[in-house]
Amino acid sequence: MNLLFLGTGAADWAPEPPRPDYAPGEWRGFTSTLLADCVLVDCGPTVPAALARYGVDPANITDLLITHSHGDHYNPAAIAQLAAHGGLRVYADPMLLPELNAIAGVRATPLLVGQSESVGPLKVMPVCANHHVPRPDEQPYHFVLSEGETTLFYALDGAWLPTETWLAIRRLHFDGIVWDATIGDTEGDFRIFEHNSIAMVRLMRTTLIRQKVLGADAPVWLTHLARTLCSPHAELAAALAPEGLRVTYDGLRESC
Ligand SMILES: [Zn+2]
Ligand SMILES: [Zn+2]
Repeated sequence: MNLLFLGTGAADWAPEPPRPDYAPGEWRGFTSTLLADCVLVDCGPTVPAALARYGVDPANITDLLITHSHGDHYNPAAIAQLAAHGGLRVYADPMLLPELNAIAGVRATPLLVGQSESVGPLKVMPVCANHHVPRPDEQPYHFVLSEGETTLFYALDGAWLPTETWLAIRRLHFDGIVWDATIGDTEGDFRIFEHNSIAMVRLMRTTLIRQKVLGADAPVWLTHLARTLCSPHAELAAALAPEGLRVTYDGLRESC
């Protein structure tokens, strides 16, 4: 499965365009990832410019998955821009469907926990994320995404996996994980109750490997990095590379 990290930042980055001389990770757009060249996960306000910057024709994006409705992941104006290029299928919590269907060119489909959907070339199963949203009836999601024999776990925004999510994934095998690492290498921040620090990722990863849900060498990509909580990119990436944790940056292309 091809991955293009269009944005890798948490909500505390300024949504201004980067200068051309920025080094990788010096500026981050809001987290959004293009999978299999045609399925976008989340669409915040920095997505349209990122598509242009990294040479993606918006007309190639046929499907959009929404993890949750925080403004860095869900921006109706940016979704409308995408949908203007030949229409867009959007998959989201049922709470969001009325406003999505009001956007010209959007055909919205509800996502429900544990119910698999065919989304472009992918099969997608939503599971519960440990994350807080202000809309009381909305369920934030992580996604189990399969393309042929390859399965990717897309786990953001969220902190420790809820027990019901562990029960849903414990017999699966992941070839890679894209993981919330908002808190980075900071200790003592209150946001660990709805986002991961790197120490939390480390503990969960070790458990998933021991329980044979994740291959020992499977890539783990860290994204949704907070401007105010993470060490500078180059320093963090170099420190984590030996243990196989990959710190993402905007424009990074990978596959699994
Ligand atoms: Zn977020
Ligand atoms: Zn969020």
